[in-house]
Amino acid sequence: MKKIEKLAELINEIEALMNVCTRCGSCQSVCSVYGQTCDEADSARGKIVLLKALGKKIFQNPKKVQKRLDCCLLCGSCGFLCPNGVDIFEIFLKARVILAEFTGLSASKKILLRQILAKNNVFDHVCDLGSKYQNILLKHADNDLNTSCSRSFSPLPKNRYFVDIAETSFKKRVELKKSYKSYKSYKTDSKRVLFFVGCLTDKLYPDIGDAVLKVLNYHGFNVIIPEEQGCCGMPSIAGGDLYSFQKLVKHNIDIIKKEKFDYIVSACPTCIFAIKKIWSLFFEADKKLKEEIKKIGEKIIDINEFIVKKTVSDFPDEKKAKENIIKMTYHDPCHLKKSLNVVNEPRILIKQNKKYDFIEMEDSDRCCGMGGSFSITHYNISEKIAEKKIENIKKTKAKVVSTACPACMMQLSDALSKIEDKIKVKHSIEIYADSLKESVVSG
Ligand code: SF4
Ligand code: SF4
Repeated sequence: MKKIEKLAELINEIEALMNVCTRCGSCQSVCSVYGQTCDEADSARGKIVLLKALGKKIFQNPKKVQKRLDCCLLCGSCGFLCPNGVDIFEIFLKARVILAEFTGLSASKKILLRQILAKNNVFDHVCDLGSKYQNILLKHADNDLNTSCSRSFSPLPKNRYFVDIAETSFKKRVELKKSYKSYKSYKTDSKRVLFFVGCLTDKLYPDIGDAVLKVLNYHGFNVIIPEEQGCCGMPSIAGGDLYSFQKLVKHNIDIIKKEKFDYIVSACPTCIFAIKKIWSLFFEADKKLKEEIKKIGEKIIDINEFIVKKTVSDFPDEKKAKENIIKMTYHDPCHLKKSLNVVNEPRILIKQNKKYDFIEMEDSDRCCGMGGSFSITHYNISEKIAEKKIENIKKTKAKVVSTACPACMMQLSDALSKIEDKIKVKHSIEIYADSLKESVVSG
């Protein structure tokens, strides 16, 4: 069988999912990429039409379809709004895998995804080196946002600001601070909570990890942090690499299975979404593994949602704004709102911090333009999308923008590094942790 026929056959395996689309076009209005390019092929509807044409062999240029599929933030805004419930993630991710297998992964993706990301020790080591030598390619730019920009000879996008890799990762901090070892000691009868850290919290934002620990300790939970947990696999599957994705999923399942816990929490909605909804899509034939994924998926919950719903705390709704109080606004991460339906809980928690006066921004759930590697490979579009978000932040006159996703924090920090106003970026759990007295349950 000719290769193109095999490809068409594979694409047709997801045809039933694509046939749910009635081409109504509603998804165009919420697609930030389409909003910038005004190109039908960049909307969800356009991408589905191209894929179907490839399946029917009407269109025979897989590389062009792949290019269009890659021009997507995987934000899920289209699927969230779609009146017919088209499963955008299943279609786009499966199509990315099929096309990557057909065209072959680039050498750089193979190294990055298979030799670095999928190997925990190597990834840790590379990030350690990165933290020591990052200023060879990058020049420190902003102390408040902790960002650096590209040097003239660097291959990275010239006008992008990158959040610095932490000198000591969260997992290293845990290793170094003996008091954190309490997470394995089960001193009380309280519920056991496994903390799925995620790469960005670990390598870029260890303070978020500290905040999660403080909050869990404050509310009396026993915390478990398996040291060997790895990446959730989302960058792999978004890059079309089934091999490294499956390797990471199996690795994480093995690590999680060893522990006894009541819940799993994370401060990264993309990790939660991947575990809850994406992992099982790529193990359809393996019933045992699917069952294990289902059990893990049922236990994992966003840290904001967990604190609001699973503690007996009373969270007063509003407070009186005082003069000279710091204005703060909130950005809804796409994967948290549109994929996990968590909207109010981060707001409830950040309002507990009396230092801040909360102001809702316009279009708080409009995508910030991050989209993982999209913000590097399609930086010109990503940057423009972020500019709109920054305009809305500025209108609130906020001095702090809170969100509940480390990836959104990276994107906001990039865009805010370019403006004169000093606006800080904080995770909602950091703001809540800052409102608490020191842990009542000591480590
Ligand atoms: S909103 Fe849904 S049904 Fe309508 S064109 Fe977009 S994907 Fe298709
Ligand atoms: S996932 Fe986001 S960027 Fe991609 S087509 Fe849908 S709305 Fe557009």
